[in-house]
This record gives sequence, structure tokens and C-alpha cells, in this order.
Amino acid sequence: MAKVCLCLTGRTILKDLELVDRYRSYIDVAELRVDFLDPDERFYIRRFPALAGIPTILTVRRKIDGGNFVEGEGARIVLLAAGLAFADTDRRRNFAYVDLEDDLDVPSLEEAARTFGTKIIRSYHNFNGVDADLEQKLRSLRRTGDEIAKAAVMPQSYEDVAKLYQVAEQTRDIDKILIAMGPHGVSTRILAEKLGSHLSFTSPLAEVASDADIQVAGPGQLDPKTLVDTYRFRSLTKDTKVYGIIGYPLTATSSPQIHNRGYDEKKIDAVYIPFPVQDLPFFFSLADTLDIQGLSVTVPHKETVLSYCSQRSSEVERIGSCNTLVKTSQGWAGYNTDAKGFSDSLLHFIGKQSLWNKRLTIIGAGGVAKAVAAEVYRLKGRALILNRTQYKAKEVAEPLNFAWAGLDNRGIELMDRYRDIIIQTTSVGMEPNIDEDPIELYKFRGKEVVMDLIYKPEETKMLKRAAKAGCKTLNGYDMLLRQAKLQFLLFTGQEYPD
Ligand code: NAP
Repeated sequence: MAKVCLCLTGRTILKDLELVDRYRSYIDVAELRVDFLDPDERFYIRRFPALAGIPTILTVRRKIDGGNFVEGEGARIVLLAAGLAFADTDRRRNFAYVDLEDDLDVPSLEEAARTFGTKIIRSYHNFNGVDADLEQKLRSLRRTGDEIAKAAVMPQSYEDVAKLYQVAEQTRDIDKILIAMGPHGVSTRILAEKLGSHLSFTSPLAEVASDADIQVAGPGQLDPKTLVDTYRFRSLTKDTKVYGIIGYPLTATSSPQIHNRGYDEKKIDAVYIPFPVQDLPFFFSLADTLDIQGLSVTVPHKETVLSYCSQRSSEVERIGSCNTLVKTSQGWAGYNTDAKGFSDSLLHFIGKQSLWNKRLTIIGAGGVAKAVAAEVYRLKGRALILNRTQYKAKEVAEPLNFAWAGLDNRGIELMDRYRDIIIQTTSVGMEPNIDEDPIELYKFRGKEVVMDLIYKPEETKMLKRAAKAGCKTLNGYDMLLRQAKLQFLLFTGQEYPD
């Protein structure tokens, strides 16, 4: 079973011990990064495993390998030797592992490690890409059969990440740690068991790490609580089915929490992973390698994925945008759950079955606005579409016989005739730009129903203004949940748990 390792990058031993205590129930191993310690703290490293009470890796990483150590090889070897020396007869009080880089050749260190039961991790880092001969590289790292080979590489695309999974399959016979660093590599942190990795490295949460006494370690690492609680790391197996979300930059998504909670409660061996994707063709090569079963699709890919669909639902055909892909024996089937998620949420909120006799303003004409407009039309409402780029408002409005205008003074004036319900579908006002309001010139009367599809922050500046004027307001979380539940059913064939 792959272990969870917390990378300790505090400036003092005390800070590192605090971190171990904070995350103790989530981690199996800690890595003492001596290269992050203040020089006078280094005297105490030998006592660290006993003080921490957890299996610990001793690492002194050089700058060229992504670490902080700049004082030369002699000083580094002395530190490693000091960590291993005078080892205890009670092996639990010794370092459980020592990390020795591929090019470090000091037989006395290896001998000390073996004598005192410290396992050697033989590590290799490539910050520029993924080696063409990664399988050979991994095999040649181990000098004896009891060493763990560790390769941390920086993929430049999802094709590189796919290669890592292929190499993992070819090296099932060896004890190893395989990591794809950076944003492309998040799945390799979560799917350590699928990769056959001995452990997955984690780092403290961003707010903990913002402490001046802790510095940042590996690019792309998750924090232990997220890895264990959200991604259910401990229950993942080699055969876990993979689902996920593709989009860019994908910084504010709550979908992993929703879907993974569903798998957990329904006891389904599956995991849902965020894949920040700019380049779709490369991503689909990883989707094949990982046999990904289903994907949520978000900004900016809802239209571009249409060309990857071998089948399209009637909603996708009607709306021209797809937010759900399900793998079938004939290829990807495309669905749109935004549409029903939106209309179910709005109708439930206003306590009606249709939008008959309602006049609505839709702010925005992007991917989700198309789904919103199509639903307003299906439910017999009449709408005005306002968008910064006017021709896009026209493109969405005209086929539905709706009015349209730019997001300007004239557009705001036109809202007077379409103000029973206002639906905000742009990204304006979303975290981190919480001080923005796309219709700041519009004065709410207090009679409007106002829905903002944004759910981070919970209440946008526009919604705050509307609520203050007396309007009934709704954010996008209920819609998100409803559309995710529909996706869950399409992905797994099971209803989302209550
Ligand atoms: P999209 O296709 O990229 O469309 C973005 C829209 O926002 C366009 O109308 C764009 O206008 C407008 N826009 C962006 N920046 C603007 C600015 N500075 N000023 C004025 N208008 C601006 O994105 P999408 O898929 O439609 O998603 C849009 C929003 O809906 C996102 O915030 C997303 O989180 C939210 N959403 C929520 C749910 C949910 O379940 N609650 C589901 C889907 C989407 P131009 O055409 O002029 O560029």
C-alpha cells in the first residue's frame, strides 16, 4: 500500500515537529529536509526520528536537484553521515530511509545505512522534461535489490505524463517512487498505488506554509489532508477507475469534493481528479493510457470537445456546448448537464414549473450562457442577452428570437424591460476578482430575482448589491451540485447519495 509522506521544510527542528503533529493522523512517513534547516539546527538531526515518532527520510537536497543546499559535497556528506551515525539498537529511533542521489558515490554512507536498517532511496531529478529512456534510468538507479529507485521528472505535456504511467507498468517488478512534478503531474501524486509507487510526497497547506519559518518544497504537491480526505488516497487501488475534470486554469473548482464524496458514500472504487488542460490532443493520449471513464468539461473547452464526441445527446446538439464526456465502446459520448442543473435550480428557487410570462436578462454569451438561454427558451421565458463582445450576444440570441445588446449603457437601459429575473453567467466577480460587478450601472429595484452562476465567493459583489436592495438572490452552488449529480449518474449508473 502506497504511503503518505510529509515533506518537512521548516527552518527549525521545532517547526518540523509541529508540522508532524499537525498532520500525524494523515501521514505514514516524514521527510526531514535538512537543506531547509537553519545551520545551527543541523546539530540535532540525529535525534529527529525519535522525537517525531514516525518513520523518517533523511534528505539533504542540493540546489541543482531542487533543494536549498549550496555548501559543497564534502559538507553534505558530513551531514548525511551525522544523521546516520551512532545509530540506536532500537531501529525505530533511526532514520527509516536515507535519500542518496544517483551521482553520490560514498560506500561508507551506504554501509552505515545498511548496518542500522536504514533503507536507501536512490533518487534522480529532471526539471526539464521526461527522459526518453526513463525505464532504463529507473532500473539502473538501484545498485542493490533492496534500494528504492526514485525518479522525479517535470512533464512538459500530458503526453509526458502518459509516458510515466507506461514506464510504471513496465517496472512493476521494482520498488520505486515515480513522480511527475508541476501542475500536469497532480494525478501521479494521487494515483501512487496505480503507479506502484512506494509513497507519495505531500507538503503543508498553503496557509500553513505561508508561515515565514516554512518554505515551499516540491512543485505540484498536495497537502496530506486533501490527499487522504478529498481524494481517498488510502482506499485507492491499482484498479481504481479514474474520472476527472478538464479546463484551464481550473483554480476554483469544487467538483472533486462533490464527486469523490459520492464515490465514498456509494463505496465505488473510483477517483475524480482535476486536470488543468490547455492542449486537448495531448490530454486525450493520457485519457487513453489511464482508461479515464468520464470527464467534466469546463472553461474553455466546452465547445472544442465537440469534435472528440462520437455521440452527442439531444441537449448537446440543441445547445452546441458539452460539459460531460462519458467513455463508451464507440468513443466519447457528449452530454450537457449544465442546462438541466441550471433550470432545476432556478425553478426550484422561484417555486414554478416554467418561465411562462417571465422576462429575463442573461448577462454573458459564453459556453454556460448558451445552455442557460436554451433552457429559458424551452421553458417559455423571453430574454435579453447582454455581452461585452456584442456579436456573441447576437449569435446566442437570434436563433431563439431573444433580444440582445452590448454590456454597456444602452444594454443596461434595455434591462428595464427584462427584469423579472436576472441571470449572471460571466466570470466577472469570481475569486480572486471579488470587487468586480458586471452590471454596476444597473440599479436594482428590489423586485428582481437575481441568480449568479458564480459560487466562489458565496456572494458576489453584484449579489450583495441585489440582496441589499431587497431582491431574492441565489448563487451557483445549487446549480453546480445539481449538474454534478446528473454527471455522477451518467458516469456510474448510480444516483448521487442524498
Ligand atoms: P466562457 O465560455 O469563457 O464565457 C465567459 C463569459 O464571460 C463571456 O460571456 C465573456 O464575455 C464574459 N467575460 C469574461 N470576462 C469579462 C469581463 N472582464 N467583462 C465582461 N464580460 C466578461 O465561460 P463559461 O463556461 O460560460 O463560464 C462562465 C462562468 O460561469 C464562470 O464563472 C463559471 O465558473 C460559471 N459556471 C458556473 C456553473 C455552475 O454550475 N454554477 C457552471 C458553468 C459555469 P466575452 O464574450 O466578451 O469574452
